[in-house]
Amino acid sequence: MSQPCVNIGMVGHVDHGKTTLVSALSGVWTDTHSEEMKRGISIRLGYADTTFRKCPTCPEPQGLSVAKTCEHCGTKTEEVRTVSFVDSPGHETLMATMLSGAAIMDGAILVIAANEECPQPQTKEHLMALNIIGIKNIVIVQNKIDLVPKEKVIEHYHQIKEFVKGTVAEDAPIVPISAQQNINIDVLIGAMNEMIPTPVQKLDKPAHLLIARSFDINKPGTPIDKIAGGVIGGTLTAGTLKAGDDIEIRPGRKVESENAVRWEPIFTNVNLIIAGKEKADEATPGGLLALGTGLDPSITKSDSLTGQVAGVPGTLPPTRDLFTLELKLLERVVGVSDEESIGKIKTSEPLMLNVGTATTVGIVTSAREDVAEAKLKRPVCAEVGSMVAISRRIGSRWRLIGVGVIKD
Ligand code: GDP
Ligand code: MG
Repeated sequence: MSQPCVNIGMVGHVDHGKTTLVSALSGVWTDTHSEEMKRGISIRLGYADTTFRKCPTCPEPQGLSVAKTCEHCGTKTEEVRTVSFVDSPGHETLMATMLSGAAIMDGAILVIAANEECPQPQTKEHLMALNIIGIKNIVIVQNKIDLVPKEKVIEHYHQIKEFVKGTVAEDAPIVPISAQQNINIDVLIGAMNEMIPTPVQKLDKPAHLLIARSFDINKPGTPIDKIAGGVIGGTLTAGTLKAGDDIEIRPGRKVESENAVRWEPIFTNVNLIIAGKEKADEATPGGLLALGTGLDPSITKSDSLTGQVAGVPGTLPPTRDLFTLELKLLERVVGVSDEESIGKIKTSEPLMLNVGTATTVGIVTSAREDVAEAKLKRPVCAEVGSMVAISRRIGSRWRLIGVGVIKD
């Protein structure tokens, strides 16, 4: 399999069929969180790669598939491109995970089940997240059409059209499918190829990797001399990395001494690159990849580096524990039955802030109509101009209330 070149997010309400669709397209059931990779490395990336292919003789979309031989004529198919799927959880309590996934999506599939009224709460909340983060390359999937009669599918299609009016998904194609019965998957692949193009790779910039997962891949009881270094998984937003390259990871490690807490960058090197399920000589921007490092695996275990940034030493953005945000708040809270209006941000209120793949909590130290300053409980490594998704605690959970841009 060649290296993936684009990340496609799977978003939508719980149980609408996101994971089933990833499985139909890639053969990987991401819910088990275990993806066996070559050379005995098992890496819990929680996402899946697949290669879109086409038949050299059949017309599109019939000729599009993920199979090596065409199901219509038996001809060997040709590779179009390899993509990575980022499967988000649809449950309302897992919005932070959805938002950190959204940070690495180049485009997204909004999965909407045809056997339920549209929109369901997280159908709305996820679309709003795409909307404010600015993910514009969207394909809407109307799933489970095997469960409803044709007239209902058409009625539901009109509900979707009404719902997406005025959003980033207003002109997105709506593809009726059954992920479970493999109906119309060829049309969906065509729509993804058209709507979610491969981003232009910024190869001339220094390597910059958003870390989405991190692991200790050693089985308990592995002898010391056989222990593999810590593994980080994520997406290169720019630059390339080769085995042997030195990297810096920020914010890095928390160091506590004499009642003071500080974060020190971690320096290590890359010793293995896995992309598209295979060992690669060079990592390039686009899809998801895993890097084996020289780190003690206790530093990377259980996603402990999720949200951090890795790259060429000396080139990473600063680590911030305080920032000023230029605010753009929504009018109403979405994703709940009672959509109350969103009041101003107030001094000393806690906010959940998603910056890149990082999730942190900030306490507001000062706030005006459209600017707020927040002190972060856990620092982030981010450039001026970075987008921050802002959530407020309403009732028992965090609700997305808007977006901010880091001013300084
Ligand atoms: P997720 O929460 O969005 O990831 O949803 P899942 O992929 O876990 O699917 C939820 C349930 O819907 C499972 O029982 C699936 O088998 C079922 N399902 C998914 N897609 C289809 C479909 O196209 N048709 C039917 N009949 N069931 C489906
Ligand atoms: Mg799922």
